[in-house]
Amino acid sequence: MNEHGYCSNCGMDFDGDMIFDTFMEKYQDEERALESASHFGATKTSGRWDKKIGIYDMEKDMTTHYTCPECNHEWGRWGSRDVDNSVFFKVKTKDDNL
Ligand SMILES: [Zn+2]
Repeated sequence: MNEHGYCSNCGMDFDGDMIFDTFMEKYQDEERALESASHFGATKTSGRWDKKIGIYDMEKDMTTHYTCPECNHEWGRWGSRDVDNSVFFKVKTKDDNL
């Protein structure tokens, strides 16, 4: 299953490694790994790093565009085909409540 979509230009798969696995490797401790993964909206079985690069607008104080690391294709965050928007806000809200 693909969480972060594909590049509309070159078709690159933007799904990276499991977020939980990354922290598990780092801490060698399941509880700590789960705790850290939860900050990224991830669980033991879901949540992957995103390979696409977010372009941050200092003036707007938010990510407004994304770039594909493979072909440098650039697109707006609020394009009609952008499915990551809801995920982003879900994660934001979760962090705010911590
Ligand atoms: Zn691309």
